[in-house]
Amino acid sequence: MTTDDCPFCAIVRSESPAIRIHEDEHTLAFLDIRPVSRGHTLVIPKRHSPNLEALPVDDGARVFAVAQRIALAMRRGPVAADGVHLVVNDGRAAMQTVFHAHMHVVPRHRGDKVSLAAGLATRRRHDPQQTGADVRAGLEPGREGEK
Ligand code: AMP
Ligand code: ZN
Repeated sequence: MTTDDCPFCAIVRSESPAIRIHEDEHTLAFLDIRPVSRGHTLVIPKRHSPNLEALPVDDGARVFAVAQRIALAMRRGPVAADGVHLVVNDGRAAMQTVFHAHMHVVPRHRGDKVSLAAGLATRRRHDPQQTGADVRAGLEPGREGEK
């Protein structure tokens, strides 16, 4: 997968639609199109790297920093998460399907095991515009755009 046929590079170039949660010079975060729970977000470096081996350390650090902020936003904002998974699937054996390195930020709620299992099976979107607004609402305004 190169930048020309990469679905995430197409989002970076605004050639494909996405519900954007955060953007800065080096990173972009947007809702997963097939969420396992409401608010499931992906954080990517804008620069294309297919996997962890190719990912420059500085891009990895930036992705983690943004994922951390979004995780906090999910806890303190309207998403009202009680917990969050930060997940990187690296390689086909680990179920990586898009070969542009990315981190999943998946909100969890107490007692959501059954709904999470259902979400894993159906991966259906629920009102993406409102969901995006709810995730963004938890971001500290003063920290937006921070590198
Ligand atoms: P992974 O299995 O870690 O490679 O996950 C790739 C994720 O990207 C999956 O959860 C997909 O639902 C998600 N995905 C694929 N294409 C898009 C897209 N165009 N916009 C948003 N999310 C996408
Ligand atoms: Zn890419």
